[in-house]
Amino acid sequence: MGFFSVLGDFFQILKHTFRQVFKRPFTYFYPFEDREYPERTRGRHIHVRKSCTACAQCVRICPVVAIRMDKEDKKYEKDCALYFDYTRCVFCGLCVQACKFEALFHTPVVDMSEGDREDLIYGPEKIETLDREPLKWRGRRFR
Ligand code: SF4
Ligand code: SF4
Repeated sequence: MGFFSVLGDFFQILKHTFRQVFKRPFTYFYPFEDREYPERTRGRHIHVRKSCTACAQCVRICPVVAIRMDKEDKKYEKDCALYFDYTRCVFCGLCVQACKFEALFHTPVVDMSEGDREDLIYGPEKIETLDREPLKWRGRRFR
């Protein structure tokens, strides 16, 4: 291997290094920035009580028994309160498919870690509202 061949390799390495330094990274500076998730992302749910008929189809179809229903808790004529246990949920989407009354949806919020397991059980006050707009709270993009 001659001197010029080594020099050529050296410049090739430098070229690749500089190209990477000035390229926008493929990764994101989480949690301060995030990518947009596809429209059909199966993130945490939202329960629209006004449309709910307490039919319990979502509860019956859940393969991991992650949804509990409280029929006594009523806000409207036919609705009920739902409790989602996100320590069990596998985000399969079957409950949303089973709901024929447009009362249950996925949201694009996928980061839901908590310090306490109990906080991963979303009762009516949490499952009926989005605690934050996806992307909005994260601030600016850094690069
Ligand atoms: S997404 Fe699947 S696992 Fe989660 S609550 Fe719905 S049916 Fe159950
Ligand atoms: S959320 Fe939908 S499937 Fe579940 S009880 Fe209400 S209407 Fe029925």
